[in-house]
Amino acid sequence: MNAQSNDAPASVPEFVPVVIVGAGPAGITAATLLAQYGIDCLVLDRHETAYPLPRAVHADDEIYRILARLGIGDEFAAHSRPGLGLRLIDTDMRVLTEIERSPQPSAAHGFPQMNMFDQPELEAMLRANLKRYPHAVMRGNVEVTGVTQSQTGRVRVSFLDRVRGGEQSVQANYVLGCDGANSPTRAAIGAHMYGLPFQQTWVVIDVDTDAELNQWEGCHQLCNPQRAGTYMRVSDTRHRWEFRLLDGETAADYQTIAAIEPLVRPWLGDTPADALKLVRVTAYTFRAQVANRWRDRNVFLLGDAAHLTPPFVGQGMAAGLRDAMNLTWKLAGVLDGTLPETVLDTYEQERKAHAAAMILMAVSVGAAMTGGGRLGDLIRHVVFPRMHNLRLPGTRTSAADGVTPGLHRSALVIKSRSPGGLAGTLCPNPVLNEGLRLDEVVGNRFALITSSSLTDAQRNQLSSRGAAVMLAAPGSDLDGWLRKGRASAAIVRPDRAVMQAGRSVEALCRAMPAFHGVKGASDQVGHRSM
Ligand SMILES: Cc1cc2nc3c(=O)[nH]c(=O)nc-3n(C[C@H](O)[C@H](O)[C@H](O)COP(=O)(O)OP(=O)(O)OC[C@H]3O[C@@H](n4cnc5c(N)ncnc54)[C@H](O)[C@@H]3O)c2cc1C
Repeated sequence: MNAQSNDAPASVPEFVPVVIVGAGPAGITAATLLAQYGIDCLVLDRHETAYPLPRAVHADDEIYRILARLGIGDEFAAHSRPGLGLRLIDTDMRVLTEIERSPQPSAAHGFPQMNMFDQPELEAMLRANLKRYPHAVMRGNVEVTGVTQSQTGRVRVSFLDRVRGGEQSVQANYVLGCDGANSPTRAAIGAHMYGLPFQQTWVVIDVDTDAELNQWEGCHQLCNPQRAGTYMRVSDTRHRWEFRLLDGETAADYQTIAAIEPLVRPWLGDTPADALKLVRVTAYTFRAQVANRWRDRNVFLLGDAAHLTPPFVGQGMAAGLRDAMNLTWKLAGVLDGTLPETVLDTYEQERKAHAAAMILMAVSVGAAMTGGGRLGDLIRHVVFPRMHNLRLPGTRTSAADGVTPGLHRSALVIKSRSPGGLAGTLCPNPVLNEGLRLDEVVGNRFALITSSSLTDAQRNQLSSRGAAVMLAAPGSDLDGWLRKGRASAAIVRPDRAVMQAGRSVEALCRAMPAFHGVKGASDQVGHRSM
């Protein structure tokens, strides 16, 4: 695509390989990753600029790692604030339990485990960064009105120009529906949301103040069946509270400092309420749902279009970024002919179970915060204090680890019969000898990480398949990781999930897929090391 056309062209081409509906975090992430592979893509959104109202405030180290892959790691560092973890507190502000998070780079991903930020600021960074990739074009002020698939495998996306009027359309090989909770793409493919009978309406209060509130700098989860709440410091001056609304209440009841003061007073200490400036008060209905299917032929759902989670563990946007990370390299490989079309089946197989596990975790925290009666007391006083030993449903991951569950078995996650293997988990991102982190060296390729040396023939075989080779020196972080997983080598996918691991380096060299999704390396401004 024309490198100059990134600033909202007046017309669109008749055909683009990938059209992305929705320029929220999931859509822009998908566009950036595709553009890194040299795949032309067009992003359509009804708004010209990023959605201005704050929603997400927390990203974990895995998401920070994705942001770094997009090319905005340094900017995110400058605009985010590490947090110290999550505390469940009772109505007397006593700590029931605490899950700690370190502000130091984590062993798992190389970034702080808990990062507070402002979503509109992040979205502005993502959009500005996308402009650096000539293969991606963003078109705002258009309302997508239809997504239809023909027998030929092409998808037509119809849209209205909200400024000039008139309907236009564009054809694509693939369409990614990143169009949020009310996704028109989801409706177009006949999918629907289903899930837990969890539905709560909360008021979200964003406040700016120059005053120091002197609170513990993590997420305070107030457990109170009468009125659960959340408090977090988001930046130097921004603070976020969220409270469950009682029957009959609406956000309109809390539009002044005087109205919110009784709710937020426990966190104010000596600070007078008039030192607070209301940025925004709005109500959200939190749901716990996933779409019944995430794909119909060449149309895929990502982000809130595919799953909705209550924000109690700050993982909604995160799931959309993981979707984009999971799907885009597979699409790049299929589009350039190096991967079979069947790999696209693995997207929903891998991502749906993962998203559902994270939703269950959020709902469990929500149950501790809001649950009444003896069950609520049991969760708060017995279950959560033992949280460090609790496993996420269907996984070997504990909530206290701060590491999300591994991916389920698929054609691209080949697990051995013995439990505890590396397949499906994410490989670490240590600093290597050259001072660069693993992600910076491997870029968007597959990699074989091995503690055994390779023959020239094996090296040539891997190189001809487009894979990087990372030798894990004895005693290094990578060596320790392989040993812990009882493996001598691992095939790591471009999204850093382990495809297969084991003791036979020869077998793993043979199993390495050919993947040449990396094109036009000079275009990949977000990457230093391809
Ligand atoms: C109060 C609250 C707190 C949250 N806290 C966190 C948190 O701490 N951490 C976290 O990870 N997540 C959090 N989330 C969730 C997070 O905000 C969302 O999951 C995330 O914004 C979803 O991103 P998305 O790209 O999938 O969808 P969206 O951000 O909703 O973007 C969808 C885009 O599609 C466009 N669109 C829709 N229909 C059309 C159409 N017909 N034509 C053209 N364009 C269209 C929209 O304009 C929009 O730009 C929170 C959410 C809320 C409400």
